[in-house]
Amino acid sequence: MSDITLLPAVTSFLAREHGLFIDGHNLASQGNAKIAVVNPANGQVIAQISDATQADVDQAVASARQGFKTWSRTSPAARAAVLFKLADLLEAHREELAQLETLQSGKLIGISRAFEVEQAAHFLRYYAGWATKITGQTITPSLPSFAGERYTAYTLREPIGVVVGIVPWNFATMIAIWKLASALTTGCSIIIKPSEFTPLTLLRIAELASEAGLPAGALNVLTGGGAVGKALIEHPGTDKVSFTGSVPTGIAVGQAAMGAKLTRATLELGGKNAVAFLPDVGIDKAVDGIIEAGFLHSGQICAAGERFYVHRSRIEPLLEALSQRLGQLKIGSPLDETTQFGPVANKPHQQKLAELFAIARREGSQIIHGGRIGDGPGCFVEPTVILANSASDTLLNQETFGPVATFLPYDSEEELLQLMNASPYGLSASLWTNDLGKAMRLIPEIQAGTLWVNMHTLLDPAVPFGGVKASGIGREFGSAFIDDFTELKSVMMRY
Ligand code: NDP
Repeated sequence: MSDITLLPAVTSFLAREHGLFIDGHNLASQGNAKIAVVNPANGQVIAQISDATQADVDQAVASARQGFKTWSRTSPAARAAVLFKLADLLEAHREELAQLETLQSGKLIGISRAFEVEQAAHFLRYYAGWATKITGQTITPSLPSFAGERYTAYTLREPIGVVVGIVPWNFATMIAIWKLASALTTGCSIIIKPSEFTPLTLLRIAELASEAGLPAGALNVLTGGGAVGKALIEHPGTDKVSFTGSVPTGIAVGQAAMGAKLTRATLELGGKNAVAFLPDVGIDKAVDGIIEAGFLHSGQICAAGERFYVHRSRIEPLLEALSQRLGQLKIGSPLDETTQFGPVANKPHQQKLAELFAIARREGSQIIHGGRIGDGPGCFVEPTVILANSASDTLLNQETFGPVATFLPYDSEEELLQLMNASPYGLSASLWTNDLGKAMRLIPEIQAGTLWVNMHTLLDPAVPFGGVKASGIGREFGSAFIDDFTELKSVMMRY
């Protein structure tokens, strides 16, 4: 098989002069600095985007403040209608957006179609449904009444204002949709800063949002490096930051937000997610589980399993079967529909993985499968299986965010729990067993924002998601995000 043919809409979009999206239009940046967007499958530059300046930031914030006035006064049902229309437009442009996403990130085209576009539309519809369901409470205060006066009180959930959304490169389309959907459904306006590696789909989605009827300024997109995100957070005209990315950047973002003016911050960060197999799980089921947890989208998923704990009696046959399965994967171009394993998303990330492999070798961990990076212009990294020497090995403690599964055997359930929880992070974990009673007893003992049983990685918009410990602050999805994107106002009345 060979690569699919790119749609004319994709080639013409790539050939455009890319500006910023401010006030409902594509606008040229007020500066000249450009950043190249590179296809990680072959190293070719596919577009140049603008590196926004402080003047661009000021302009986008002024527009978003105006957009907030209009949008927050738009009725909830009208807000929902725009978001539903945008979901329809995402689906109508499914192939165009999926191809752009694969070109900018190296994601397999099937994953771009299914997750970046179809799932994103599904999440968007879920959020749209919330616009008409955001409510407060009525409360009867117990204040003293001296002359027959009475009291009543109620609470309002008011949109927080102008949100800054900062998005990583791994699911550049879907995560941007989560952010704009949570902001817009609650009546906030939002300025999104995508990763400089993967800005293209969002520039196109902003145009579709205008087509869906979103008023000018409700969604602005500023491309550029981390400094653009920082300038937005520290700007006096922004009220909240919703950040998804790595732990070190998340800490810097949290500090900038608090330091500036106690700007509210939701931080969805990375982790070092644990996957535990109890001895009753069959080898084939365990191999399927490891591939689902650790190798989907080459492991470039914040919730992906990175630390795998297997009972000592099972580890040898399991690693042998896993290596055999990984050896059969077809590695190649992400635009070829028969490819099963593509490149990682960018050169710095490929380089980081090469350094982690070198550390693993230096520390004497056994590389059971893979462990090499490609030497061509594409960012290829072999699916890799590592057997650690001890719990202190670097590969069991530092997030790889790549196609790397590191294993450690355990002997008892007590030891297993101690190993799973001995991490400063707690985004997700999974437990694999056929013994439901045992699972129910272990669930409360495991420290993670999301715990999967006999599954891993899959997210649903109705189920809250976010980290405990150093994996973040706040929750997305379910009703949980409403607390993060609104302020609670109490009203008390005497009559
Ligand atoms: P980074 O933390 O490097 O970057 C995330 C975003 O922040 C990018 O848009 C980046 O811009 C921007 N940024 C960088 N520096 C600053 C700054 N000082 N102030 C404001 N913004 C800044 O993460 P990656 O893009 O490398 O993504 C991978 C990480 O994201 C992994 O650690 C992963 O675990 C985590 N992640 C967490 C998820 C969750 O829901 N918990 C989901 C997905 C990923 P630029 O790229 O242009 O430098």
